[in-house]
Amino acid sequence: MTGADHLRLLVDLHRHAARQGPGGDEETRLAVALSGLRSAKGLKIADIGCGTGASALVLAQELDVTVAAVDLVPEFLQVLDRAAGQAGLDERIETRSAAMEALPFPDRSLDAIWSEGAIYNMGFAAGIQSWRRHLKPGGILAVSELTWLTSERPAELERHWREQYPEVATASAKIAVLEANGYAPIGYFALPERCWLENYYRPMQARFAGFLARNGPSAAASAIVAAEEFEIALYERNAAHVGYGYYLARRTGDRHQVRP
Ligand code: SAH
Repeated sequence: MTGADHLRLLVDLHRHAARQGPGGDEETRLAVALSGLRSAKGLKIADIGCGTGASALVLAQELDVTVAAVDLVPEFLQVLDRAAGQAGLDERIETRSAAMEALPFPDRSLDAIWSEGAIYNMGFAAGIQSWRRHLKPGGILAVSELTWLTSERPAELERHWREQYPEVATASAKIAVLEANGYAPIGYFALPERCWLENYYRPMQARFAGFLARNGPSAAASAIVAAEEFEIALYERNAAHVGYGYYLARRTGDRHQVRP
């Protein structure tokens, strides 16, 4: 199987979902509250790895903003375009198919960069380093990222996530990475289990039968379902130890810093 075939299958599994990763509208609103951006006017925010746009829609509802919603997958952006139209938010959300490694924004042009469950594609440190230049001095970074919730973890959990995502770490370690890269942390919270189970894993499990029927008999499709089921069971056994942390930070380290 080629990489393109694998991507096509992943898009087929995820395009009919409200979310392509753990999260929740309430939690996006909490991050908005912590960001301090509610009273600002005429904001320009990029939502990176937006998928079908769950967080972009909340940002457009909650703030006086234009959201540039960026994803590599045009099929996801089409779903967001439709949803934005239906919600009367199409003037506020502009979808852009682009790679997060080379964002199509001028330096110092964004009031905030949002990214839920997507920065792992670049790696947390590489992502925050490369995105910083696009933020105005004092601009806000809001990202959710796989995080250890305890200082000691069961071996099966360590093994799986260290292999899948070597940058998995505790919140204090992630915050230290932010501080070392020109950001001042302003907020942190962990997503509740509901964001994984009710909002992400259970709806995905409900799509497995249709996914297998559309793509079967296919060893590749079956392997994707088996891998997801393994990850879901692992999460269910270990939800006390691993989750998504939501990190809010301000671009700092600039002379003559102005707040947005
Ligand atoms: N933020 C959404 C989607 C998270 S899944 C949500 O929380 O529901 C991760 C997303 O990142 C997917 O939509 C995937 O298409 C996108 N993605 C993966 N690699 C990317 C890259 N290199 N550049 C831009 N987007 C990417």
